[in-house]
Amino acid sequence: MLKVGITGGIGSGKSMVCKIFEMFQIPVYYADLKAREIMNRDEILIEQIKTHFGANIYGPNGLDRAALGAIVFNNREKLDLLNSLVHPATIRDSEAWANAQGDVPYVLKEAALIFESESFHYLDKIIGVHAPMPLRLLRTMKRDNMTREEVLARMDKQMDETIKMRLCDYVINNDERELVIEQVFELHGILCELAEPTTTELTIL
Ligand code: ATP
Repeated sequence: MLKVGITGGIGSGKSMVCKIFEMFQIPVYYADLKAREIMNRDEILIEQIKTHFGANIYGPNGLDRAALGAIVFNNREKLDLLNSLVHPATIRDSEAWANAQGDVPYVLKEAALIFESESFHYLDKIIGVHAPMPLRLLRTMKRDNMTREEVLARMDKQMDETIKMRLCDYVINNDERELVIEQVFELHGILCELAEPTTTELTIL
């Protein structure tokens, strides 16, 4: 079984593309969602967050995300510190999740920060989802009801899109010109073959 990462800038359409892979019965680990969950589940991580950000960052309903967000949003050092705690915990969790999946040719890990978090070291292949910046901006403003400036501030914190796409093994173009489903179908075939080359050879014979 291959472990495949899928990444891209904010609003590029990673989640949308993953939903198509799920239609092909491919399990997807949504790293951002899972990270939120393990910040309330992973005992080691919880203790580390309390140590660095204060015990009262956790209340009766778990982590106070708004309070933590306020601390890290405009403080690069604190954000890096938080990421240095959360990323290894997410990698541990996604590895356990991947190894628990049944008989599938490959699994997907969806994460905006695959390169920044070092999680690419644990993945066999990386797919990039690309969309031009103005389109990503409009999509995110609409989806999250945010202003142009708010989205640009988030984009500013991410790795340069061109560099990110260059680091990927495959790129899906989600610019609303090329059909995404066809690109996913083709890539699904390539990944299935990569996962089981012997099956393909037998079929050819
Ligand atoms: P984030 O990094 O913020 O989680 P993402 O890369 O996962 O974003 P999505 O949430 O999949 O992006 O897409 C962003 C928004 O754009 C969503 O509202 C989605 O429905 C829309 N969208 C994505 N791709 C397309 C498309 N090809 N046509 C129309 N709308 C699209």
